[in-house]
Amino acid sequence: MNTNHKSQKRQLRVLTAIPKLKRAIAEIRARGETIALVPTMGALHEGHLSLVRLAAKRADRVIVSIFVNPTQFAPHEDLNTYPRTFAADQAALEETATDIIWAPSVATMYPEGFATRVVPEGAATVGLEDKFRPHFFAGVATVVAKLLIQCEPDVALFGEKDYQQLKVVTQLARDLSLPTKIVAGPIIREPDGLALSSRNRYLSPPERATAPVLHRVLKECAAAIAAGKPLGSALRHGRETITKTGFALDYLEARDAETLVPVGTSSSGKIRLLVAARIGTTRLIDNVGV
Ligand code: AMP
Repeated sequence: MNTNHKSQKRQLRVLTAIPKLKRAIAEIRARGETIALVPTMGALHEGHLSLVRLAAKRADRVIVSIFVNPTQFAPHEDLNTYPRTFAADQAALEETATDIIWAPSVATMYPEGFATRVVPEGAATVGLEDKFRPHFFAGVATVVAKLLIQCEPDVALFGEKDYQQLKVVTQLARDLSLPTKIVAGPIIREPDGLALSSRNRYLSPPERATAPVLHRVLKECAAAIAAGKPLGSALRHGRETITKTGFALDYLEARDAETLVPVGTSSSGKIRLLVAARIGTTRLIDNVGV
């Protein structure tokens, strides 16, 4: 890794056109430097910034993409109201080691006549997010494949917050022979346990007060399972608590931590507990390891 640049002042560049991005990447490569990519939809918070810090440790140059990807939203979902806070995002990234913000328009990513989709299987079809958001993973896989091809990173950072997505993207990079190493970052939480999310700003004060129940239940379930309680009764109790608290539960599941297939007993390999639930109009997801 070339460390000369660390003494130079970084200049954060905002790029929106593919030829300019390719030119910037060619300059970086000509200096023999490595590149890390952090894909985001903006509305940046500490979870995103933690990935940027990991990225800076893994490569000489950091690209953060900001793109609210329409193809991963269903028509009834929150594409139009999804928070767009570009000026604040840029200001936050100025304080980090980011070199380039890659902020393409929808027309740049999906020009007139765009007709290709990457449709993942495996971890993308295990009946978790895919069951409740059937559009989601083809949209994610298509945009992530494009971002990885556009930015040519050596490493790309994804949060464990979106655990199923992390598994899908890892498989995608492997299956498409992309030369990028996918690296996971841990979930960053509020002091009360709520996982940071761009969607948390939708929560009313009472909803915000209730939201940490999800993490509390995950932790309690994980502890009970680790202590030998049967999976079925631990999950049943967890589902009851979540529902009684006022959430509409989509799922609380125990899955194999690698393949995300259902686990029958607590004695199989590593287990991940994953939850998705709606409070008011906001849908929250979270997960923990057992
Ligand atoms: P998003 O902007 O929601 O698409 O998220 C962009 C990246 O940030 C994804 O890899 C997410 O998994 C990651 N991320 C979102 N929230 C968190 C969090 N609380 N902790 C760690 N990573 C996160």
